[in-house]
Amino acid sequence: MASSTKYIFITGGVTSSLGKGIIAASLGKLLQARGLSVTIQKFDPYLNIDPGTLNPYEHGECYVTEDGAETDLDLGHYERFLNVATSQSNNITTGRIYNNVITKERKGEFLGKTVQVIPHITDEIKSNFYKLGQDGKYDVVITEIGGCVGDIESLPFIEAVRQARWDLGPGNFLVIHLTLIPYLKAAKELKTKPTQHSVKQLLEAGIQPDILVCRTEHPLPAEVKKKLALFCNVQLNSVIEAMDAESIYDVPLLMKKEKLDERVLSKLKLTSKSPLDLENWKDFLGRLKNPTQEVHIGLIGKYVSLPDSYKSIIESFTHAGAAVECKVNLTLISSEEINSDNYQTKLGDLDGILVAPGFGERGFEGKIQTVKYARENKVPFFGICLGMQVAVIEFARNVLGLQGANSTEMDPNTAFPVIALMEEQKKIDQMGGTMRLGSYACDLKKGSKAAVAYGKTKIQERHRHRYEFNNDYLDQLESKGLIASGKNPETGLVEIVEHKNHPWFVGVQFHPEYKSTVLNPQPLFVKFIQAAIDNKKV
Ligand code: GLN
Repeated sequence: MASSTKYIFITGGVTSSLGKGIIAASLGKLLQARGLSVTIQKFDPYLNIDPGTLNPYEHGECYVTEDGAETDLDLGHYERFLNVATSQSNNITTGRIYNNVITKERKGEFLGKTVQVIPHITDEIKSNFYKLGQDGKYDVVITEIGGCVGDIESLPFIEAVRQARWDLGPGNFLVIHLTLIPYLKAAKELKTKPTQHSVKQLLEAGIQPDILVCRTEHPLPAEVKKKLALFCNVQLNSVIEAMDAESIYDVPLLMKKEKLDERVLSKLKLTSKSPLDLENWKDFLGRLKNPTQEVHIGLIGKYVSLPDSYKSIIESFTHAGAAVECKVNLTLISSEEINSDNYQTKLGDLDGILVAPGFGERGFEGKIQTVKYARENKVPFFGICLGMQVAVIEFARNVLGLQGANSTEMDPNTAFPVIALMEEQKKIDQMGGTMRLGSYACDLKKGSKAAVAYGKTKIQERHRHRYEFNNDYLDQLESKGLIASGKNPETGLVEIVEHKNHPWFVGVQFHPEYKSTVLNPQPLFVKFIQAAIDNKKV
C-alpha cells in the first residue's frame, strides 16, 4: 500500500454500548485539532445492506449523509464532532460486503474459483477499509468495527483487521480495544478479568491491541492499570482510563488528559501539523455548562421510549442551546397518548413544541392535535419531515375545512390528499434506499422566518421521505395564511411551510438535524429556541 495514510481500528469487548463511536469521534477530534485530516468509518456486522429498513427501535435513528446514504447513527457523532461530511463509503455492513461479492461472482469475476469467506469476503472488507484513504486526502482513517469481539458475525471483520496489519505495514496500523472494567460493589473492586478475556479473544484471532481504552465508573488505580498491561500485553502508558462523562462532548478533553492522542501519534510515528487547538471546543463546552436561561421543549413522536431514535434532534438542541446559552429541557412525549381531552395537560407547560419525523399511522392523530394546539395558542412550533406534513394536514382540515384531508401514507383514499406520493415514487416497488434521500437545494422566501434564521436565501438540506406537499393545494392553503417559504428550485416542491400571524411556526420537509454540529449549530434550531425563550417571557 503506497499511500501515507495511517489506519486506526477500534474494536469493542465485554459488552456492546460502550460508546466506541464517541471514542472514535473524540480521538478523531483530537487528531484534527492537531492539524491532521481525519475521517471515520463504521463497519457493521449485520446483514441488512444499510439500516434504512430498520425500525428505530432496532437500531436507533437512521442517519443520512449528504450523498443520501442511510447509515448508522454513529456517523452522526463523527460529523458532529469533526464538522466534516461523511458519505456512503463511511458505513459498510456485512450485507453490503456479501452483496458486492455475490454480484461479482455472478459477473464471473472469480471465474473458476470457489468463492469463500477467506479470501473473498475479507478482501472485499479490506478494499472497503482502504477506500477512503486511497487518494491521500486523509492523514488518518479511523475504522470502528461494530459489535463485540467474539460475536460470530464480526469474525470476518476481525480477520480482515488482522490481515490489514500486513498490508499496511508497521507504523501505519493501530488497534485500539475499547473495553469495560466493571466495579463489583460487594467486593468494592474493579475487575479486570472480562477485559483479559476479551483481549485473549482478540489474540486468538491474531490481533494484539496496541491501546486499551477502559470504560469505568471509578478511576483506575495504578495496580489495576499494571495488571491490565501485564495480562493484556500492552504498554502501561497505553492503558487509557475512560471515566463516565457528564456529556459526550467532554470525552475529547478527557481523552486528551489521558494522552490518548499522544500515544496514537507516537505509535503511528505521526507528528502534529499544528499545535493542539481546542479553543472553539472549550468555548462551546463553557457555554453548554453555564447557561443563563432555560426553556422547556416537548418532542412529540412515536418512538419516544428509545431516545436514540431521535439522536440527531436531541444533539441539535444541545448545539443550538449552547449557542444561545440556554439549557433546553427536552421532554419526549408519545403522540399516541395525546388526544382532544388531555392535550392541555400534556402540552400546556411547554415553551416550544417539536413534532418529530416518523412513518405510519400510529400516533398520527395525536400529532394533529398537537399542531392544532401550537397553532391556535401561538406556541413556537417546529415540524420536521412528518412533522411538517402534519402541519399542512392540520391546516387543511381545521382552517380550510377540508374534512378528512390527509397524507396518502395514512389514508390512501383521502378525498383531499394534501400530502401525496410523487409520480417517481409510485413506480418504486422496493423499500431499501428508495426514498428521496440526501442533500437538495432549497430557495427561501425573502423575509420569511426561515430566511431570517439562515441569513441567506439559498440553502441545502438533507431529505429522507417518500411523500411530499401536494402543489395542487398550494393556492388554497396560501389564501388562508399558510406560507410556502422554501421551495426546491428545480421541481417547485414545497420544502418549508410557515404560518402568518404566528410568532414562530416552521415546518420543514427536510431533516435539519443531520447537519447540526458542535461548531455549526443548525440555525432553525437556534431560532426555535429563541422563540421558545420569548414565548416564556410573555
Ligand atoms: N413518512 C413520511 C414520508 O415518508 C415522513 C418521513 C419522515 O418523517 N422522515 O414522507
